[in-house]
Amino acid sequence: MRWGLIGASTIAEQHMIAAIRATGGEVQTVVSTSLERARSFANGHGIDQAADNLAILLNDASIQAVYISSTNEKHRTQALAAIAAGKHVLCEKPLAMTVAEAAEMVGAADVAKVVFATNHHLRCSGSHRAVRDLIRAERIGRVLSLRLFHAVHLPANLQGWRINDAAAGGGVIPDITVHDADVARFLLGEDPLAVVAQMGASGMGQGVEDSAMSVWTMPSGAMVSSHESFTHPFAGSGLEVHGTHGSIIARGVMTQLPVGEVELVTAEGREGVPFSAHNLYVQGVTDFLAAVGGTGQPAASGADGVASLAVALAVREAARTGIRQVVDYGRAA
Ligand code: NDP
Repeated sequence: MRWGLIGASTIAEQHMIAAIRATGGEVQTVVSTSLERARSFANGHGIDQAADNLAILLNDASIQAVYISSTNEKHRTQALAAIAAGKHVLCEKPLAMTVAEAAEMVGAADVAKVVFATNHHLRCSGSHRAVRDLIRAERIGRVLSLRLFHAVHLPANLQGWRINDAAAGGGVIPDITVHDADVARFLLGEDPLAVVAQMGASGMGQGVEDSAMSVWTMPSGAMVSSHESFTHPFAGSGLEVHGTHGSIIARGVMTQLPVGEVELVTAEGREGVPFSAHNLYVQGVTDFLAAVGGTGQPAASGADGVASLAVALAVREAARTGIRQVVDYGRAA
């Protein structure tokens, strides 16, 4: 598979170029808003072509797929252009700035019959897949609650638009709550109905929130609590799923690396749960390629990206207004 990168980004540099190459792919072109940055990025990563004009990539018939990792407000326009050019699209989260825009992207891909997937990496991890398998196998009985703790310290190199540019999609809610929404949906197999929330700036956010806490109502009656922050150096991340017959405690698993621990606690005692230590992003690209090849589904579809954004935006609105929000997935009644 020959790929084009839309966005000379940190995530492409640190994870996705290697993931594409590990699955046999070739990165043909990188597009940036700055030709100088595109050239420097291409030189630094052995990419043949650099451009500051998306059309150069989209007119290249040898490129079958694009990976979009620009700042969030650019995803929609770039994805729609790539879809119109017949490219398969792996797009970063949040898919867009609004649910309607994200749904438009998914609808356009459906019409064009191209694969459109969301790069929600956490559901690609061995740890999250092991937790989901335990839940599905009813090892903890009926799920009563899920606690997501994802308060981290944003590395200095990422303290740019995320903490000071609302127009670019900054803020911890579009950045991390959106991932947690995907984790809850992936693990529990249901969509949050409504949310209550609070948010604030606790040292990093300038005009956008850097911390949020929220509680979500699920159709099954399970309760979900979620905590995201950019300002917590030592909190550690993880999740706990509590059921009528057991609990699953997963520590250090809200991360880009295949690390952490999963433990099952039941009346029989505590047991460590083994899980695959495969690379999360390689798994995501592998699942994407299976979807393109017609032999599988993307790890997270476009619809999954719409849903995670809908939950995140409901959290922000609930926090802004102090009023419980019913999550608007933008689905036809
Ligand atoms: P970066 O800030 O590294 O890159 C985003 C854009 O910022 C780039 O596309 C680039 O624009 C511009 N940029 C990069 N470096 C510079 C610079 N030195 N000066 C000016 N502009 C610069 O963002 P991330 O890689 O952290 O995030 C990109 C996207 O990926 C976001 O949508 C984010 O939510 C998502 N993401 C997803 C993760 C996941 O695990 N799924 C993890 C991290 C991020 P241009 O391309 O025009 O040059």
